[in-house]
Amino acid sequence: MERWSGKVAVVTGASSGIGEAIVKKLVGHGMKVVGCARNEEKLKKFASEINGKGKGEMHPFKCDVKSEENILKMFQFVKEKFGSIHVLVNNAGLAHFAASLLAGKTELWKDMLDVNVLALSICTREAIQLMKASNVDNGHIFNISSVAGHVISSMAPFYSCTKFAVKALTEGLRQELRAVESHIRVTSISPGAVLTDFGFRAVPGLREKNVDLGSIMEMLKSDDIADTVVFALQAPPHVDVNEIIVRPTEGDVGKKLAPLLQKKA
Ligand code: NDP
Repeated sequence: MERWSGKVAVVTGASSGIGEAIVKKLVGHGMKVVGCARNEEKLKKFASEINGKGKGEMHPFKCDVKSEENILKMFQFVKEKFGSIHVLVNNAGLAHFAASLLAGKTELWKDMLDVNVLALSICTREAIQLMKASNVDNGHIFNISSVAGHVISSMAPFYSCTKFAVKALTEGLRQELRAVESHIRVTSISPGAVLTDFGFRAVPGLREKNVDLGSIMEMLKSDDIADTVVFALQAPPHVDVNEIIVRPTEGDVGKKLAPLLQKKA
C-alpha cells in the first residue's frame, strides 16, 4: 500500500458500518481521507478517534448525497484543500425492504435511486474530472454494490434493481475510460450480508424486536469489505479488477431472514 500513502481519497457514507471501516483502513495506510455523510456529529467524533495516530488523516465533510449541490461543494473542498483525488469509494447506500414492486411507495423507490445510483454517478463524474484536471491517471473508483446486484432479492427487488444498475455503471465506466486510454480503474465490490446498521435502517421496527442478526446467520464484518478495498488497491496498476463478490461462507440470508420480516407496502 506504500504507493497510496499520502494520496487523497473520498469515502461516502463514512459515518457508519462499511464506510467507517474503509476510512479507518485507508487512514491507517497513510491516506488523506475525506469522509462524508449527513451525520456530522458522528463524523467528527470518528475523526477525533482516528486522527493523530499516524501519517494518515480523516477530514469529516457533512454532505447529503441526494443533493447535487452538496456533492459539488464536497469536490470543491477536495480541490481547494488537496488539489487532487486518487481514490473514490462510492459506499453511501440504503434499502427499504418494504418497498415491494406490487405496493411500494414511490418516494421509497426514489430514495434508493437517488442515493444508490444517481449520487454514485455524480460523485464518479466529479472525481474523474478532478483526477483528469490534476493529471492523475492511475486513480481508483470503488462502487460498493451488493450480492443483490447479481441475484434478485425477493425481499427487496427495487433495491436489487439499483444494485444491478451499479453493475452496469461499473462496466460502462470501465469501457468509457479505456476508450479514452485512461488507466483509472473501477471496481465494484458486492458484499453478502454485513453486520452493520443497514438492516435495521432497511426494516423499520426491526431494532425494537431485539433481533440479533449476527447470532442467527453468518455475516461478514465491515472490516472484511475494507480489507477487500485494500486488496484491490494493491493489484498491479496494469490489472483491471472489475468485480469482487464477497460472501460469508454459509447460508441463504434471504431464507433465514424472511420469517423475521413483516412484509409491508
Ligand atoms: P449503514 O446503514 O451502516 O451505513 C450507510 C451509510 O450511508 C451511513 O454512513 C449513512 O450516513 C450514509 N448515507 C445514507 N444516506 C445518505 C445520504 N443521503 N447522504 C450521505 N450519506 C448517506 O450501511 P452499510 O455500511 O452496511 O452499507 C454501506 C453500503 O454497503 C451500502 O451501499 C449498502 O447498499 C452496501 N451493502 C451493505 C450490506 C449489508 O448487509 N450491510 C450488504 C451489501 C451491500 P448518514 O446516515 O450519516 O447520512
